[in-house]
Formats: sequence, C-alpha cells, structure tokens
Amino acid sequence: MNYLEVDGAREYVARLEHGKDWRGQIEDFAAEEGIDAAFFMGLGAVKDAELLYYDQDDQEYVTEVFDEPLEMTPAIGNISWLYDDRFAHTHVVLSRKDGSAVAGHLDKATTFAGELYVREFDTKLEREHDEVTDLDLWPL
Ligand code: ZN
Repeated sequence: MNYLEVDGAREYVARLEHGKDWRGQIEDFAAEEGIDAAFFMGLGAVKDAELLYYDQDDQEYVTEVFDEPLEMTPAIGNISWLYDDRFAHTHVVLSRKDGSAVAGHLDKATTFAGELYVREFDTKLEREHDEVTDLDLWPL
C-alpha cells in the first residue's frame, strides 16, 4: 500500500441545496473554498440517482439510473484534482421506503435535502491514469 501523511486543515459543515446536483454542489464548494484534498461524509435524500458501476473485466463504467426518491444513507467520498477540475469521488448507499437499498459510485443525483461534513487536508491530491486498472488514481 502506498500512503502519504497529511495534516488536517479546515473543517466544514454544509447544507446541500434542494434541486441541485449532489456531487456538483460539493465540487463547486471545493472550488469556492480552494480545497485541494479532503474527505467528506453526508446524509439526506435525493429525488433520483445515477450510479456508475466499474466493470473490472471490460474496464468501463456501466450506468444505472434510479428515477425514484431515495434516502442517502450515507454518502462518503473525497475531493481531489482530476485533470483540470476538482472531483468529488462519491460512494453512496441509497434506501427505498421498504428498506431495500442500492449502492455504488454516484455520478449524479438531484438533491432533496442534504447535510455534509468536510475535512480538508493540507496537501494537494491529483489523480493520474493507472495502467493496471485504467482508472484515475492517486499517484502515492
Ligand atoms: Zn468510485
């Protein structure tokens, strides 16, 4: 395992805006605050969600769309640079009224309500293409 010791920096709590994209709001916030590396967790609810499943054999993302109200129970992720933008890598567990759940890598979701905790790190993380997985990973 490769690793990097990081110092904690700023911490935030935030409320996500109704009707806006869940991940996009986190990326906009990171840009506004100049956050180059962070972890976050959040909870709330969304009106729909688009998850990406990474097929390890084909090395391609497959999209699954859920056009229904779902609880975000929870979202967890990190913020780092991907090419020329900040990217909020976000994984979620989403539950339905009957308690069943779907989970995965969140691409988009329309926020119903959301609360977020963000812990910034005093470093800059920038993703690079990884030959083995064909993913953009941290070059630690
Ligand atoms: Zn992912």
